[in-house]
Amino acid sequence: MTDAHNADGFATRAIHVGQEFDPTTGAIIPPIYQTSTFVQDGIGGLRGGYEYGRAGNPTRTALETLLASLEGGVRALSFASGLAAEDALIRAALTPGDHIVLGNDVYGGTHRLIERIHGAWGIRNTTVDLADLDAVRTALATEGTRMLWIETPSNPLMKVSDLAALVTLGHEAGAVVVVDNTFASPALQQPLSFGADVVVHSTTKYLGGHSDVIGGALVFAGEELAEKAQFIQFAAGAVSAPLDAWLTVRGIKTLDVRMKRHSENAQAIAEALVGHPGVDAVYYPGLPTHPGHELAAAQMSGFGGMLSVALSGGAPAARRFAESTRVFQLAESLGGVESLIGYPSEMTHASVRGTALEVPDNIVRLSVGIEDVADLLADVEQAVGA
Ligand SMILES: *Cc1c(COP(=O)(O)O)cnc(C)c1O
Repeated sequence: MTDAHNADGFATRAIHVGQEFDPTTGAIIPPIYQTSTFVQDGIGGLRGGYEYGRAGNPTRTALETLLASLEGGVRALSFASGLAAEDALIRAALTPGDHIVLGNDVYGGTHRLIERIHGAWGIRNTTVDLADLDAVRTALATEGTRMLWIETPSNPLMKVSDLAALVTLGHEAGAVVVVDNTFASPALQQPLSFGADVVVHSTTKYLGGHSDVIGGALVFAGEELAEKAQFIQFAAGAVSAPLDAWLTVRGIKTLDVRMKRHSENAQAIAEALVGHPGVDAVYYPGLPTHPGHELAAAQMSGFGGMLSVALSGGAPAARRFAESTRVFQLAESLGGVESLIGYPSEMTHASVRGTALEVPDNIVRLSVGIEDVADLLADVEQAVGA
């Protein structure tokens, strides 16, 4: 990939890579190529290599070029959702009989996909505590292991996993090392720089950043797996639509400033909730008391906008908190400019109830937005006492 901005800093690349102005009109923003097909100059005479929208579209290329630059990869592929991206990756990298080792606190939908969809096609999995490196080594020794799936910080307890150590263990076992970087975003953490092979994103979250589009992406350290995944993207067809790709690019332009503000606001809320009489524990990597604080400080450039709170009054108190906020809106998802609150055990993590991945029922999760911090603080303080 060649681009005039490849040597620039992160915030500059977020605004300019893949975003050259339109040469025919001078429009500073490249248009949305809302088209299904491309006229050929004689049979096979393609302008710019585009033939049919499932195989490629310039708006999608713009997003893919941008994501590859921000994560430091050789190539990125953009999909209709985060789970569509994950599905394409697993089918590109594995064959029936292979085994995946995944964190026991990965996104519930990831576990559901691997367990129920790929499981039915002969892919086996083991969930493990990624903080327990001996347990990870043992799980990786399972015959047929071809993939290690990491998510850090994880959801909803914000556990931080040691990327460098896990990459080493995964590679020693001959596994492809995948990192779901949705929570940190490339503005705060770049897993490929720790040796990971693939980064997965739900671009629905911080990358899009405005709660107006569902999307996913894969970013690759090497060409070989990227080729295989691109074939699945083309042949199975879960591509992102041009408007969705355009909205995601538009969101990414402000990623750097948004992540700084998300982190500042979340830090302030975490500090305000620590020691509150109704609160048993606050899970936020920016708190010095968080078990992953040192590691997060070393491998991330900010602590992010996600935090969870354990209420001392149990499930009733947690439900009341989640239903009593004014600025924080009760909804699934995360990573948008607007603050959201969720009750994981019945919302985002309902699919893992009764499994080893179950989330305690006194936990409330906050996706801290970029509103005025005083309003957010007042909101959580009135709700936690509700
Ligand atoms: C939301 C999410 C996904 C799934 O992405 P979709 O865009 O909803 O398909 C995967 N991983 C994490 C960490 C997520 O938060």
